[in-house]
Amino acid sequence: MADEITKAQVARPGSDTIFRKMIHKEIPTKIIYKDDQCFAFLDISPQAPTHFLVIPKKHISQISAAADDNESPLGHLMIVGKKCAAHLGLKKGYQMVVNESSDGGQSVYHVHLHVLEGRQMNWPG
Ligand code: AMP
Repeated sequence: MADEITKAQVARPGSDTIFRKMIHKEIPTKIIYKDDQCFAFLDISPQAPTHFLVIPKKHISQISAAADDNESPLGHLMIVGKKCAAHLGLKKGYQMVVNESSDGGQSVYHVHLHVLEGRQMNWPG
């Protein structure tokens, strides 16, 4: 957890992120869903028994930088997140999280939706 906080505190907005490399197939990724607007894939450092991310193909660095016309791609992330959750059989409930900037725990500056399941979430923990 301390490592995650450190990573978030040193991360900075920019378009050359690890997620851009995934979108361009420059690094291997365990993709669970993709369409013309987004990708969903397993988190490399899961914080729950099931932990996947949904990202837009379009680069939006963070939720605070989203423009009004990003409403559709961003809304799409939640719809895809719930469809993937259903497909994976997540019946007991799950958490969807978007981290914003360093104090919000954001370490990758390509907006993404976390979907976590399989343990009791003690919000905010
Ligand atoms: P955040 O801290 O909200 O910016 O979340 C970034 C997430 O990306 C973290 O949960 C990381 O574990 C995850 N992550 C970073 N690199 C990879 C990767 N190569 N494959 C999958 N997930 C990754």
